[in-house]
Parts: sequence; C-alpha cells; structure tokens
Amino acid sequence: MRAAALAGWRVLSTGGAALDAVESAVSVLEDHPRFNAGHGSVLTSDGTVEMDASIMEGDRLQCGAVAAVPRIAHPITLARRVLEAGRHVMLVGDGALAFARSVGIPECDAASLVTDRQRRRHAEPVPPRAMLGGTVGAVALDRSGTIAVATSTGGTAGKLPGRVGDSALIGCGTYAESSIGGVSCTGDGEAIIRVVLGHRALCYLKDADDPEYAAKVAVDLLVEEGRGHGGLILLDWRGRAGYACSTPLMPIAVMSPALREPRTPF
Ligand code: ASP
Repeated sequence: MRAAALAGWRVLSTGGAALDAVESAVSVLEDHPRFNAGHGSVLTSDGTVEMDASIMEGDRLQCGAVAAVPRIAHPITLARRVLEAGRHVMLVGDGALAFARSVGIPECDAASLVTDRQRRRHAEPVPPRAMLGGTVGAVALDRSGTIAVATSTGGTAGKLPGRVGDSALIGCGTYAESSIGGVSCTGDGEAIIRVVLGHRALCYLKDADDPEYAAKVAVDLLVEEGRGHGGLILLDWRGRAGYACSTPLMPIAVMSPALREPRTPF
C-alpha cells in the first residue's frame, strides 16, 4: 500500500496529473501478488483470469474501461488508452485485446497472472463471504484541481466467464467529478451495481460536504439497499479523504502535502 501511495505521490509532488498518479498507484498494486488485480487475480469457475478496470478524470468526465480481459499485465493502462482514444468508454474481451494490440500493449502469458495462492483457492470450495476482496483503487487530486480515479480487479472468485462487475462500470466502482470529489469502490460487485454506489457516494459528499460521513452513509446504502458488503475510498475537491467498509479488512494508504510518509490506518 505504501509503495502504491508513493508511486502516485511521486507524480503529484512533481506537478504531474491526477490521471497519471492513479494509473501509477494502481499499476503497482496490479503487479503485487497479494491483490486481486493483474498478477494475483482470482480465477473464474473455468480456472481462467478475466479482469475489469476503469479510470476517470473529473474535469471533462473523460473515462475509459475494459471488462473481462485476459492476458493483460496492466488492465488499468489499457483502460487509460481507451480514455485517451476518446471514441468509446468501454471495450470487452477479444475487442479489448485487439485494441490493446493496436495501441502497442503486448499480451502476457496467461499463466503469468496466476499465483499459487489463487490456484489453491480455486481448488477449494469457496465460502460466499470469501469470494470478495483484493480489488485495488486509487483517487488523486492534482495541483490544477483535477480529480482522477482508477479501479482494477480480477472480479469475484469462481465467477462465471463473461461476468462483468462494478469495477469496469463508471458510476458504480469508479466515479469522479472535480467539483465534488472522486471515489473507488470494492466489494460485492452485483450489490454495488444495484445501488450505483460510486455516483451515490458523490451525491452524499456533495450534500454533506464531509468525506468520512459520505463514505459511511454510502456503505450503509450498499449493505441495506444493495444487500451486499464492501467498502470505498474517496477524496473531496479540497483533498480531504474518507473511507469506510463493512468487510473485516480494507487496507488503505493516504498521502498529502501535510504528511511526510503515507498514512496506513488499518
Ligand atoms: N468489486 C469487485 C467485483 O465485484 C470485487 C471486489 O471488490 O473484491 O468484481
């Protein structure tokens, strides 16, 4: 978490863009085997890896997403290329791979994304609450006042091939409006989609002007109306952070000009 926060911070502290910061932070976590994104993704019921990722900047509401993509080491970078191309918001499966080729992102070996931990997990029956977790996300505010958000995941363990979760969906797992804030969600994707959690969290933030309160109320919404569990991180337009979860563990890291080191309060 610390390395990811510092990767994002290196971009921001040298005057870089929020979009570059969140892409860098999430790329670090996609490489880390402990997280359910990129290398370390959970496996589908077929034992394959299919990843979802999305990225958004909150000035012009530019966004890019990929869903159910195999054989890509950094799905967040592919989502970024979709954003930059500007024509579409989301590409899936084989079309996303063809697009990756066209923008020079190489396919990786499918086996290089699979860790022993996930292979063992796939071999065991999965208890329902253990299907979640490990999705990665980042929210950043840069010097020009732009907020950006990135989210990346392997999805839920044992999911059916072709299933797409909230992490690929703008307004659900990822949302940013620079005049309000930005939010990245994790948890039960179907429940997050049901309540359009990312967008709703920013509505609470706009009304209450309190990031911690907005995060908490959004998680209550997820549990009570969405009938699922999870959590979210958010940042408001002033750079104040909020986070909340209904799950036992959601590691986070916060870095700001007022801190010398990332804060990891978990
Ligand atoms: N939200 C992700 C999904 O449903 C899973 C997770 O956050 O653990 O795909």
